[in-house]
Amino acid sequence: MKANDMITLALSKGRIFDETLPLLKAAGIEVLEDPETSRKLILPTNHANVRVVLVRASDVPTYVQYGGADLGVTGLDTLIEHGGGYANGVVAAGLYQPLDLQIAKCRMSVAVRADFDYAAQVKQGARLKVATKYTAIARDFFASKGVHVDMVKLYGSMELAPLTGLADAIVDLVSTGNTLKANHLVEVERIMDISSRLVVNQAALKLKQAAIRRIIDAFEAALPAAR
Ligand code: AMP
Repeated sequence: MKANDMITLALSKGRIFDETLPLLKAAGIEVLEDPETSRKLILPTNHANVRVVLVRASDVPTYVQYGGADLGVTGLDTLIEHGGGYANGVVAAGLYQPLDLQIAKCRMSVAVRADFDYAAQVKQGARLKVATKYTAIARDFFASKGVHVDMVKLYGSMELAPLTGLADAIVDLVSTGNTLKANHLVEVERIMDISSRLVVNQAALKLKQAAIRRIIDAFEAALPAAR
């Protein structure tokens, strides 16, 4: 099989992989190995010319942008951070974003300790210490509000930052709100709704148009709004 005939889809393990499987099925594609039990990073499918590569969630846009994969599924949060911001909806050159897959839905929010008066601090023009993994989104959001912030970059367990005095506020993904509640934090701003997006390498879309279009169209037809 020539490399040019192969369609490579980049997914991350867990929620995105699990929630993409039904869409793949709608496109007639079945992944033949379970990423939770297999140690393989390249998974075959029932189509000899379609394969899935397993990459870290934050690496999906990089793989697709630079052609290591033709398509990928990634959270809007990851996509915006990859592009370093969200200027005019364009996240990165060469990365085409045809579909909101409406999976892995959650929101990006600001949260503080229950005893921290966020509204009063903002009103007073206080400088806020904000801990987050999502520095581009947080920076854009507070800049748009005219709030001065000192950003502390973290890679996980953001909820700990306000509890230990590392920061006044965090910017993190919230789904049920249970994690915040368990850590005595309250959501004080909703920055944006988040869901996973299909991303496509623009050059691949030209070179392998028929095969990629077939997948995009099948995904689109399987989305809740289309039913
Ligand atoms: P929850 O307790 O349901 O509000 O979930 C919050 C925790 O799950 C936080 O640590 C988030 O970073 C993470 N989380 C929630 N939804 C998502 C998502 N769609 N993608 C990645 N992480 C998420």
